[in-house]
Amino acid sequence: MSLCDWGRFLLALVFPEHCPLCDALTPGGGLCGQCADRNLEPGEPRVLPGSGGCLCYAPFRYAGAVRRAVLRFKFRGRRDYAPWFGRQIARELRGRIDPAGAVLAPVPISRRRLRERGYNQSLLLARAAAEELGLPCVDLLEKYAENETQHTLSRSQRERNVRHVYRVKKGKAMQKEIILLDDIVTTGFTLAACVSALEQAGLRVRCCAALAANPHRREKTGEESGNP
Ligand SMILES: [Zn+2]
Repeated sequence: MSLCDWGRFLLALVFPEHCPLCDALTPGGGLCGQCADRNLEPGEPRVLPGSGGCLCYAPFRYAGAVRRAVLRFKFRGRRDYAPWFGRQIARELRGRIDPAGAVLAPVPISRRRLRERGYNQSLLLARAAAEELGLPCVDLLEKYAENETQHTLSRSQRERNVRHVYRVKKGKAMQKEIILLDDIVTTGFTLAACVSALEQAGLRVRCCAALAANPHRREKTGEESGNP
């Protein structure tokens, strides 16, 4: 083994790499052999509500192994999945639009949530996707008011819940178009509220992207199944 190989070997012992889909140890990183053969359902592009036709793209449908992986990424501290997730978002964007010249920005979380979780999962995704695309990533928005967690609410409550909670940080004006990133898109109200905050500040949004799109489920009560 060369010195470089030894270095990599030791690094893998200290920071073992895991498959982002099933969490199996995968020396060298990326998907394990089994997951590489999985047929993952793609997410369908959707138009954000009340956004004047702004589209959100997602490489995956929020289901099965992807859903479990997103939950570990978001709630179990598995930020090490971000590079692979970011590459999938970058690939989806490249297949849909020409992202050249844009700036990637994440949907923000509140200060309280940031203290609890220790990281904004959407910022990790935006950084990783931006790196893959060779574009800048700017943390443009802030969530200045606490609200209920979206997944606990019905569709109509979700729309009201995200009004007046996002704004552009002071001094963040820019000429470039924004690609806005989130982890999961369900009703699209959160992304739409962020698009609206950006537009009110005079910024232009090219499109949105999420790692996974939650399929619409309309139950008799009108409730949607949300992300836990
Ligand atoms: Zn795997």
